[in-house]
Amino acid sequence: MEEGGGDDARLRLIREVADTRQRVLLGGVFYLAGWAVVGGFASVYSDHPVAGGLIAAAFLVLAALRFVMRAPSSEQPAALQAAWLDRQWTVVLATSALWGAVLSWALLDPAFEPARPAALLCSIAYATAYAHNFSMRRERALLGIALIYLPAPVLLALDRDALAITVTMAVYLVYVVLILFRSHREYEHRLDMDEALRHQRDQYEQLSRTDPLTGLANRRHFSGVLERRSADAQGSRSPMTLLVLDIDHFKRINDDHGHEAGDVCLARFAERMRELFVSPDAHLARLGGEEFAVLLPGVSTGEAAGVAEAFRRSLAERPLRLREGPIGVSVSIGVAGADGRSPADGAELYRAADRAMYRAKAEGRDRVRIDGA
Ligand code: GH3
Ligand code: MG
Ligand code: MG
Repeated sequence: MEEGGGDDARLRLIREVADTRQRVLLGGVFYLAGWAVVGGFASVYSDHPVAGGLIAAAFLVLAALRFVMRAPSSEQPAALQAAWLDRQWTVVLATSALWGAVLSWALLDPAFEPARPAALLCSIAYATAYAHNFSMRRERALLGIALIYLPAPVLLALDRDALAITVTMAVYLVYVVLILFRSHREYEHRLDMDEALRHQRDQYEQLSRTDPLTGLANRRHFSGVLERRSADAQGSRSPMTLLVLDIDHFKRINDDHGHEAGDVCLARFAERMRELFVSPDAHLARLGGEEFAVLLPGVSTGEAAGVAEAFRRSLAERPLRLREGPIGVSVSIGVAGADGRSPADGAELYRAADRAMYRAKAEGRDRVRIDGA
């Protein structure tokens, strides 16, 4: 199955949801812990018990929300996945905004003096964690870092005595932003690699089941389909028919026109098969050499014999067109059906169709024969 661009975008989104889910879990409690320390050293709980308690409760709720908001399963529609990401980011950014407010309070209120180093260290730590953890969305992460961190250099700049720490905080901000940009690039790169690997795997899978000359299914793949379809047909009690087609006197074509023309002939023959066996359920295959097969699930033996006869006639009336000119070929076709009542396995069905094909050969070639008829 080929995956289009839509599937790629969807798989990336699912991956981002899984990564985001995993990465949001840890952070929330550290904001709560940070506030416990900063508020504690600033005596907030005794001086402003209501504000202190409300802030703690807000951090607690925000941390809990990260756990409670369960990610949608990968089968859910893309819109739901994107909406979940938006909600989770809202919680993360709200936590950052609250921390930014706490930091501003700590820097502006003299009562926070003993807790300021802790508040600044927490901001540095949270911003660094952002750069490493939330690199899936660069712009959102930048906003989060700004909320957590910017009050520090801005408010510290107002204080002449804090010049050294202001400069240090400003320089570290540059570093954090550079780290964020790099980890964002690495994240995108990883998704690109996953995508390329997936495409390569699909391509190899496709190649491993295709006959390169004709583009039809190869024998190995067809055998699997035949077995599975036989089991299905028996289960659903619906009929199924197998045609085995063998080009007549193909050796002569090679002898008269060369092996290369023989190859082109096989490719044209396969094209003609595609033109005639148009049912979307039909499975077409090259079993090897100049032998082909068509499996028609849901089609009765009589009906399939009619289609086989139409194909045979088309070939007799309309030669294959090669560069060297038209080449008339004929085909012998064996037909065997399973009616869905008697147990049928794929191998048995193939033997029956092959038997019928040999009867067509024996009775003069260029004809359709039904097994058992
Ligand atoms: P019959 O009517 O009895 O089927 O005669 P036939 O000549 O078609 O059958 P036979 O089995 O004697 O010969 C099959 C020929 O098909 C022999 C082989 O050279 C040729 N052949 C098999 N595979 C290929 C292929 O991939 N390319 C080409 N050009 N020829 C092939
Ligand atoms: Mg042949
Ligand atoms: Mg043959």
